[in-house]
Amino acid sequence: MNNIGLVSRTDSTRSVIALGEVRFGEGLVVIAGPCSVESEEQTLRIARAVKAGGAHMLRGGVFKPRTSPYAFQGLGLKGLKILKTAREETGLLVVSEVLDTRDVSWMSEYVDVLQIGARNMQNFSLLKEVGKSRKPVLLKRGMYSTLSEWLNCAEYILKEGNSRVILCERGIRTFENYTRNTLDLSAVPALRELTHLPVIVDPAHGTGKVGLIPAMSLAAVAAGADGIMIEVHDDPAAALSDGDQSLTPAQFSELARKVTALRAFMEGLN
Ligand code: PEP
Ligand code: MN
Repeated sequence: MNNIGLVSRTDSTRSVIALGEVRFGEGLVVIAGPCSVESEEQTLRIARAVKAGGAHMLRGGVFKPRTSPYAFQGLGLKGLKILKTAREETGLLVVSEVLDTRDVSWMSEYVDVLQIGARNMQNFSLLKEVGKSRKPVLLKRGMYSTLSEWLNCAEYILKEGNSRVILCERGIRTFENYTRNTLDLSAVPALRELTHLPVIVDPAHGTGKVGLIPAMSLAAVAAGADGIMIEVHDDPAAALSDGDQSLTPAQFSELARKVTALRAFMEGLN
């Protein structure tokens, strides 16, 4: 791979992206929350539960990139206000996806990290816009993208002056269709060689199946991920999106305990 530029790793230093006590690139950051913000009650219940279970940050989509235009599209501004309430109540910092250049600036008042979803990884206008923002950006891997294409997208953001980019592996399309995507865990050690940016893993979108998430989360930690992002719902069967890949709060707490223990064990190996 040709040297890409600002994102490239040139020495042993890896970037740490610090947001208060949450530090990407140091230790293991656990992000959890619903796929979509559905209501204030639902979001607060899940936020409290994931906080108690050991999450460091809350996730929740309010602009949803759905395959069908008839599927739930998200609560928009109302959802952002709910996330803000959840943040105030639990102290958890919040990450949420931005779909449109027009929303970057005002949405930044409600969230701590702006997420660029897989479907927008190569939306160059959006990348330039978040590059001008002061908020950290969680850049998901496009489902048809190589590591080089992904790193070039991160480069768009850094080039505009925003160096706080966190990469998130979330699976790619392959011929295998048992899983929703094929989670490419080799991307984690590969990216640690190629870039100084932190790398986290989303095993929910990466597999699409609750039963596979614990093992793939532990595997992500073993591969050296700086964090994991987990979808949690207290009534997965009734979720408005991604119920099939949402852990219950109890399943999440058990997983958080295990990934934390594995990370501590691995630090002892070094
Ligand atoms: C999400 O995290 O809510 C999401 C839509 O994920 P992805 O962009 O990876 O499909
Ligand atoms: Mn989802």
